[in-house]
Amino acid sequence: NQDEEKLTEYLDELEFLAFTAGATVEKRFTQKLTQPDSKTFIGSGKAIEIKEYVKENEIGTVIFDDELSPSQLKNLERDMEVKILDRTNLILDIFAQRAQTSYARTQVELAQYQYLLPRLTRMWTHLERQKGGIGMRGPGETEIETDRRIIRDRITLLKEKLKTIDKQMATQRNNRGKVVRAALVGYTNVGKSTLMNSISKSEVFAENKLFATLDTTVRKVVIGNLPFLLTDTVGFIRKLPTQLVESFKSTLDEVREADLLIHVVDISHESFEDHIESVNHILMEINAHQKPMIMIFNKIDDFSYEKKDEDDLTPSTRKNISLEEWKKTWMAKSKYPTVFISALTKENFPEMKKMIYDEVMKIHISRFPYND
Ligand code: GDP
Repeated sequence: NQDEEKLTEYLDELEFLAFTAGATVEKRFTQKLTQPDSKTFIGSGKAIEIKEYVKENEIGTVIFDDELSPSQLKNLERDMEVKILDRTNLILDIFAQRAQTSYARTQVELAQYQYLLPRLTRMWTHLERQKGGIGMRGPGETEIETDRRIIRDRITLLKEKLKTIDKQMATQRNNRGKVVRAALVGYTNVGKSTLMNSISKSEVFAENKLFATLDTTVRKVVIGNLPFLLTDTVGFIRKLPTQLVESFKSTLDEVREADLLIHVVDISHESFEDHIESVNHILMEINAHQKPMIMIFNKIDDFSYEKKDEDDLTPSTRKNISLEEWKKTWMAKSKYPTVFISALTKENFPEMKKMIYDEVMKIHISRFPYND
């Protein structure tokens, strides 16, 4: 039953992603398989069921929660006669919509081409099969080769462009000198930007976009009398496409080169513990998991739970664990300074600021040991 709960959460998230991309979800299909079908990911019976539903209801797109192999994608598209998206594709699409700077656009374009390249062959093979296999090795092959070459050239070009910007950004980071740098990290939509705004706005001295980097926002913040730099970084997500991790190198460099990580968690979200794991996983991948960290559990104003009855015998689920109980658990098990806040109502802000101040000060002192 826990598996089912997980599944619902995963599909909730996928639906939220679809919604973000501008789609409305009409129906969910699930299937239990010991392992995905190598040709079509789902079983043939399920494929027919979906196909019929799609036809009847004039559905435009079917979205899968996993990354499909190039051939699975093509086979499904051919069998179901509908546009197929997988999770990677959907996330790339959202990133493309959201990319505002030329740097972000370049990163997304690179990731998109990298996703497309291995899928190109199958697309053509599939078309050729439809044509009846005539002239298969003739112009068809040449066309694929031409397309592949164009895309490869484009990838090379984009990589060079990014390398140049990466260098500029590295110089910018170096120029920021010895000021302590803190980076907000966390799952997507946990409230990092909101927190960034409220921390810098509420301070005596805050300057907006002091270092106008291309994508991440860096602000100078002062708490007490202590200035430091705060960076808002791209949100993490479960199964973040590898193409994105790779092409968002410079954005992730902000995290990699930060002195202090401020890990923001949305405690009102049912899967917040999974989110923490996903974030830690990515931090490990980019080798940033050993940095000093502060855990900020956000959105306590939105936390809801179903109170347990004295003689209620239903098993304990996430829903009937109170905020106080969560607090106790996390305070005990977290190896980092931990605080529970609301970025919206600013509850516990003084406590949070004190915590950030203390951690930044520790790093500051280790850097300038002879100053007061
Ligand atoms: P990010 O993706 O981590 O940068 O998250 P955002 O800052 O964009 O916030 C995502 C959503 O959560 C927005 O709709 C915010 O208004 C909302 N949000 C942020 N902090 C809080 C909070 O403390 N309480 C509540 N209820 N909502 C919040």
